[in-house]
Amino acid sequence: MIQPDRLDRFFPIKYPNGNTVSRFAKHCPHCKQLVKASAMEGMALLLQDKVFVLAEARCPQCQHGFTVKCVIDEHKQVHPVGLPSFLYRLMLQWGARKQVHTFRQQAEWRMAQQAADDAEAAQPAGTQLPDSALVQKSEDILGNFMGQPIHAWILHNGQRLVYDRAVPPGGQFRLAANEVLFDNRLIYRPA
Ligand SMILES: [Zn+2]
Repeated sequence: MIQPDRLDRFFPIKYPNGNTVSRFAKHCPHCKQLVKASAMEGMALLLQDKVFVLAEARCPQCQHGFTVKCVIDEHKQVHPVGLPSFLYRLMLQWGARKQVHTFRQQAEWRMAQQAADDAEAAQPAGTQLPDSALVQKSEDILGNFMGQPIHAWILHNGQRLVYDRAVPPGGQFRLAANEVLFDNRLIYRPA
């Protein structure tokens, strides 16, 4: 569903051909003053290569209220719409749903989805222990990594975790669901 709003909030709208409609106004049928989109309530939608406008306007000069129904083509020509408002509104709602559906088939949408999926995949699946985490470390030292001792195991939340591997220098790594990153450089797993 598209929510009606103050009409100027729908602009600017950019057409696929690169043209942009940045504002919209109509002459009041009563006093002929120009009524701006900020004095209208409704919706403006780009469906394919046309902008469809349906709004209720109130003339600030004479307080005359009138309905705006028109189509703005990609050359910014404004065409009146003869349909009854309820039918036109239905058509816009239907078009908006279809548009969302179509948009999802498009390359931009798929790329955005892919980027979101990649970002999620880049998150380690396991646990990263904060520096403040209370951890009991084994006396048993396996060696050194970047000048710090590697404890054979650590005890965290009552769970004993054994050393598995260090984070490679490039920092590219992926934790399995049950693995724990300790000190930002050592990876432990349940014993
Ligand atoms: Zn007026």
